[in-house]
Amino acid sequence: MNLVFLGPPGAGKGTQAERISGIYGIAHISTGDIFRENIKKGTELGRRAKEYMDRGELVPDEVVIDIVRDALVDEKCDRGFLLDGFPRTVAQAEALEVMLREIGRPLDRVVNLSVPDEVVVERLTARRTCRNCGRNYHLVFNPPKVEGVCDVCGGELFQRDDDREETVRARLEEYRRKTEPLIEYYRERGLLVEVAGDGDMDEVTQAIQEALATAAPGG
Ligand code: ADP
Ligand code: AMP
Repeated sequence: MNLVFLGPPGAGKGTQAERISGIYGIAHISTGDIFRENIKKGTELGRRAKEYMDRGELVPDEVVIDIVRDALVDEKCDRGFLLDGFPRTVAQAEALEVMLREIGRPLDRVVNLSVPDEVVVERLTARRTCRNCGRNYHLVFNPPKVEGVCDVCGGELFQRDDDREETVRARLEEYRRKTEPLIEYYRERGLLVEVAGDGDMDEVTQAIQEALATAAPGG
């Protein structure tokens, strides 16, 4: 199964992508995670991406498209893939269409997770991320067992620079202007499945599974 998760920052894409990719045995590709790993390692790509991320802006299309092209041909994608946080612009969606045609792996569904803006701000300002493995927690809705420590790998939890309220607002504006048009783009192509993202985490996972099992593409 080849999937895309769309939705505003904080919709729960990463949280649900981890669960759904595990359930279906497919590769989870998060462009945001790839950038953060590169920032941690101090690569040139990380340095370039950080400039934009810290301002709450999107990284330029050509940079992101090259990364996704490399990720899609990895053997981890042989059983399918779930793209989390890509595409985020119409140019990225068009490039993706061409790449997938070239490798003969068309998309099966695009899941749009919708949540209201107030929920986005509430979720992101209390998100904490593991410095070591990248797993996300929420101080109230999904707290770690020991404060400040990742349950899975014992790494230190920190607040992403771009999760401060001011930057969250900038990211929401970028989302409205550049990413939201993709909902219509994929609806027109008969691939869109809409799922409400504001229930609790297990409810949302269930709703995605049901939508993937039952919804005829076309939303
Ligand atoms: P995205 O990848 O779309 O930016 P995340 O999956 O990182 O979003 O979720 C954002 C924050 O909200 C995290 O702190 C996460 O733990 C929390 N979260 C995710 N889904 C839910 C949910 N259904 N209910 C409450 N909190 C959630
Ligand atoms: P995320 O982890 O998905 O919230 O992404 C964090 C940040 O990485 C975004 O705010 C962007 O600056 C950058 N980013 C991630 N994916 C993309 C993309 N597909 N296009 C442009 N920028 C991206």
